[in-house]
Amino acid sequence: MTDIAVNIAAIRKQIEQACQRVDRDPETVRLIAVSKVKPAVDIDAAFAAGQQLFGESYVQEFRDKAPEVTAPVEWHFIGGLQSNKVKYLRGQVAMIHSVDRLSLAEEISRQWQKLSQPIRVLLQVNVGEEAQKSGCEPAKIEELARKVAALPQLEVCGLMCLPPHFDDPEAVRPYFRRMRELAVQLDQLQIPGVAMTELSMGMSGDFEVAVEEGATLVRVGTAIFGARVRKNG
Ligand SMILES: *Cc1c(COP(=O)(O)O)cnc(C)c1O
Repeated sequence: MTDIAVNIAAIRKQIEQACQRVDRDPETVRLIAVSKVKPAVDIDAAFAAGQQLFGESYVQEFRDKAPEVTAPVEWHFIGGLQSNKVKYLRGQVAMIHSVDRLSLAEEISRQWQKLSQPIRVLLQVNVGEEAQKSGCEPAKIEELARKVAALPQLEVCGLMCLPPHFDDPEAVRPYFRRMRELAVQLDQLQIPGVAMTELSMGMSGDFEVAVEEGATLVRVGTAIFGARVRKNG
């Protein structure tokens, strides 16, 4: 087995064990392999190891790389997104995790009206209320959910977060729990077009805790593909 295959198997096992600890069905958790900055061959290798979902964070890189990937993967866009770049994702991604403002959702809606299939989106929450981070403030998420869900060709299916960073994953647990509570509160409002079925949270350092707290989509990069050199775009 390649390193990538070994890593994926180990992570799947860890997800299963985290599910067992809290009595969850492992089928309710999906692993997204975050392949940003990694070459198409790594993605094909992960696919050969049974990995189907991939997350990308940079539009330009995604545009260049996606055509080089031969495997029929499912792409999720998870990074910060400028409205003028949404057109490059149209029809290429199954889900956008980073909707944090109405203007972005409007542009996604506009682009997807050219297609027959709606796009599933998650609302990104700045759960730590950190000044430098993107994401909608928790207090404004209901208003955003109502406005975004009213747009055509767009389905709000859950929440996503990038919580504050701590070396100890236990320190992140309260933020994951807060996300779960927010999702439950939103669900109870029964807003038309809003279904809180997905919670996208947990990365290489803390995905097990995220799973224990209810994550349905975990976004793991480094623990699958190894360290990356940071890049912008
Ligand atoms: C890069 C990235 C990840 C993966 O981070 P790792 O620590 O490498 O697992 C997850 N989510 C988002 C939004 C990212 O940009």
